[in-house]
Amino acid sequence: MSGLFDLSGRRAFVTGANTGIGQAIALSLGEAGAQVICAGRSSMAGTLAKLKEAGATGFECLTDFADKDAAIKAFERAAETHGPIDILVNNAGIIRRADALDFTEADWDDVMDVNLKSVFFLCQTFARPILNSKAEGTIINIASMLSFQGGIRVASYTASKSGIAGLTKLLACEWAGKGINVNAIAPGYISTNNTEALRADQQRNDDILKRIPAGRWGEASDIGGAAVFLSSKAARYVHGAVIPVDGGWLAR
Ligand code: NDP
Repeated sequence: MSGLFDLSGRRAFVTGANTGIGQAIALSLGEAGAQVICAGRSSMAGTLAKLKEAGATGFECLTDFADKDAAIKAFERAAETHGPIDILVNNAGIIRRADALDFTEADWDDVMDVNLKSVFFLCQTFARPILNSKAEGTIINIASMLSFQGGIRVASYTASKSGIAGLTKLLACEWAGKGINVNAIAPGYISTNNTEALRADQQRNDDILKRIPAGRWGEASDIGGAAVFLSSKAARYVHGAVIPVDGGWLAR
């Protein structure tokens, strides 16, 4: 690949890269020329094999993003082993479902730890050497439609994803003039393990499809393209954007 979207010479750290949206982002960045460090708590063998098949270079970094200290250490270890990282994709995320009145502290904390706390401290760890050396970098946070809407029975998820949108804007304001582009992608209904139960429920599936202007579920690869754009020179003046990739869901 050449030109505006060429990521040769760049090194990305993608969290939750073993499956779903994270895997698709890892593959898209790899196909665009970046080296990809695939980070998460499960084996990355499948993603590494796909990267190899595409002629791209990938590495595994195993850690649990529920523990922000472990996340920081894993990131630092990866940078020491493979060299400076200049693209950070905060994709790992979880959801817990219960009515607001029945929501437990554990279901609140578990979601916040992975979806928001580790994300912030990874951004900080990623940015420090870049800001100190006047280098350049890209942060992409994975938000959600629920960064903009309420949802039902997903209190901690909605709060975490609204938090991601706010955090993305704050970091963009602090770092836009200092060489780091911070943006977010807000996926709509994407066909992954995460949404399998919704798709299996015929009535829910039909209701969702009726409301998506594009008339289909998104594919994880639809998010990969947006990640390549935001990592590329084409997005050099894009800062603090939370870009919906949702088949038009939010436009309705
Ligand atoms: P998946 O459930 O398929 O993937 C989630 C990823 O996060 C997995 O790789 C999972 O690893 C990883 N992960 C979760 N908890 C941890 C942890 N403690 N430590 C390390 N890794 C962890 O879901 P999606 O691909 O659909 O979701 C990816 C992102 O996109 C999430 O942030 C989600 O909120 C967001 N999103 C998804 C939408 C959709 O419709 N699918 C819509 C809007 C946003 P493991 O496999 O080991 O559990």
